[in-house]
Amino acid sequence: MVKQRYSMKVIFTTALMMFVHINIHKAQNIKYARRVVDTLSSSGMHGRGYVLEGAKIAAGYIGVEFQKFGLKTFDGGYFQSFDIETNRFPGQVLLKINKVLMRPGVDYLIEAGSGGGTVHYKTLTLPRVIAEDDRKMQDFLEANRNNVFVINLDSISEERFQYFIKTIRLTENYPMGVIKIQKKKLTWDVAQTALPFPIFEVMDSVLTLPIKEVEFEIENTGVARTESSNVCGFVKGTRYPDSMVVFTAHYDHLGMMGKDTYFPGANDNASGVAMLLNLVQYYSDLRHRPDYTMVFLAFAGEEVGLLGSKYFTENPLFPLKKIRFLVNMDLLGTGEDGLMAVNGVEFPKEYNILDSINNEKHYLVRLQKRPKAANSDQYFFTEAGVKCFFIYTLGGIAAYHDVFDRPETLPLTKFEDIFRLLTEFVGKL
Ligand SMILES: [Zn+2]
Repeated sequence: MVKQRYSMKVIFTTALMMFVHINIHKAQNIKYARRVVDTLSSSGMHGRGYVLEGAKIAAGYIGVEFQKFGLKTFDGGYFQSFDIETNRFPGQVLLKINKVLMRPGVDYLIEAGSGGGTVHYKTLTLPRVIAEDDRKMQDFLEANRNNVFVINLDSISEERFQYFIKTIRLTENYPMGVIKIQKKKLTWDVAQTALPFPIFEVMDSVLTLPIKEVEFEIENTGVARTESSNVCGFVKGTRYPDSMVVFTAHYDHLGMMGKDTYFPGANDNASGVAMLLNLVQYYSDLRHRPDYTMVFLAFAGEEVGLLGSKYFTENPLFPLKKIRFLVNMDLLGTGEDGLMAVNGVEFPKEYNILDSINNEKHYLVRLQKRPKAANSDQYFFTEAGVKCFFIYTLGGIAAYHDVFDRPETLPLTKFEDIFRLLTEFVGKL
């Protein structure tokens, strides 16, 4: 009796410990992911761009996390540095239309490739008949240099609008500014060029038309240069140390539009970095020593035009042909409608592995595949002949490249399921 009770107790304790262990591990995953997303999306990271060294601060944070988990370095350090040039708005950003103060990021954006300026002026609406006639457009520009033009996309197509801006550039008949009225959601960007005047994209819904008067003050640096860094580390494989499985995620985002407005980039791509760091945590744990050498790469400059991954493929820290497979992760914060694998069409063998795991375990409602695309950091690896996927979640929130991509509204719906899918995928390579 005693003996049996004793062994029952042992069994129970062991089971309890296993249960506790599993739950701690699970809880740690999502809790740690939340902490990473919150940290990277916080105001102290300044939108991880080029105002107030946001991207640099983010890189430093990722480097510290790599070090905490004891990742090895390729070249004596985690950082691979290079220069990035971008157009910036670090200071005053003010826009009043018909004497009403507009809210930056919510009511309007300054187009990324804009310049600055200060003006208090009457406006001039571009008539449709002029917008649609090349000759009339040129005459109009010549005659009305010192004006703020108002262009309503209700009556002038986006294509003609772009042509109008192009004509301004080519003829160098620069106006004081341009107000573009649109119904379409505001979506910001990073530019590497700067016009000598600002273009405002204003939400139709916040305006009382017609626009008669406009006042703005925009501080702009023009194109400036900053040193930026890819962050790179690895865990050595036990069975195939010379063959690599690589996980990548860009950590940069759009930064700030003026001194008070930052773009948090919770989904894009604090979520992907959170997955990257969870994988770092997992594979650096002695209980999960990997067969392949696991490489972790957090890229700079993705939003500027895939600059970090381009630099890395041109200056690799190890021969790219050693890569068994690479998974780029960008936008992993939702998943209600499944998961997309860009390059799933190019690499059917690996896609079938991913798909069969999902069919067996039902982690996501569905997996989808796409052919190759220049839409994130896997692109230059694909072009260099590296087998890879780019995965992103489908469904959920619509915030994208705007001030609403915030940590508190990011659901991380399928985060843990994707984590399991990825680690099982690596196990079957
Ligand atoms: Zn992104």
